[in-house]
Formats: sequence, structure tokens, C-alpha cells
Amino acid sequence: MEIKDVQRDVHKWISQFEEGYWHPLSMLARMTEEVGELAREINHRYGEKPKKPTEEEGSLALELGDILFIVACMANSLNIDLEEAFKDTMQKYYHRDINRWTKKSNAGPSAEDNTRE
Ligand SMILES: [Mg+2]
Repeated sequence: MEIKDVQRDVHKWISQFEEGYWHPLSMLARMTEEVGELAREINHRYGEKPKKPTEEEGSLALELGDILFIVACMANSLNIDLEEAFKDTMQKYYHRDINRWTKKSNAGPSAEDNTRE
């Protein structure tokens, strides 16, 4: 599945409802909720806040999926192509952070190989 498929599937899902996409501020609140749910799971697993005995184990993967869903909602409603946005983000990393971290000796393609013409 490619990023455009994620955006297409989310649009198909949302488009079947009269409510459609929420206002950007409502989606931002929802995104914040989902990040909070991920934080809760991370804190239970790796942090210092154990679950109550009655609480079920959550899924980090599902929480990340929830975040991806609301990110796609936000992008769709604002006519943002996430594939293009992600490419631009990677270009930023390839240039800005090229010498920031210690390269592994067996690292794959260099950042130069990933830069767009
Ligand atoms: Mg969630």
C-alpha cells in the first residue's frame, strides 16, 4: 500500500458520511487525542506508569494506525498530497541532517543518492 492508497481509502471511508471531514481544529484535537493514546501505551510499556489490573494491553501498532488515519484525514481535507509532503520532508533530512548523526560503516545509499534533481 502506498501513501496515496492510504489517502484514497480514508477518503472513501469519510465520503460516505454526511458529516464528512471535520473542521481542521477538530481534527487537530482528534490527532492530539490519538497521540495521547500512543503516549499512554508507550508509558505503560516503557515508562513508569503500569496499567491497572483491569486494563487490557493496548496495541502500539493500532495507535500508530489511528494517527496515520487522522493525518490522512487532515491532509485530504486540506488538499495536501502526503506523498509529496513526505518527499519534501525527506529532502529536508537529507540536506539538513546529512552530517548530524554517526554513519554506520555499512550504511546504504548516501543522502546524495536520495536527493532530487
Ligand atoms: Mg487510538
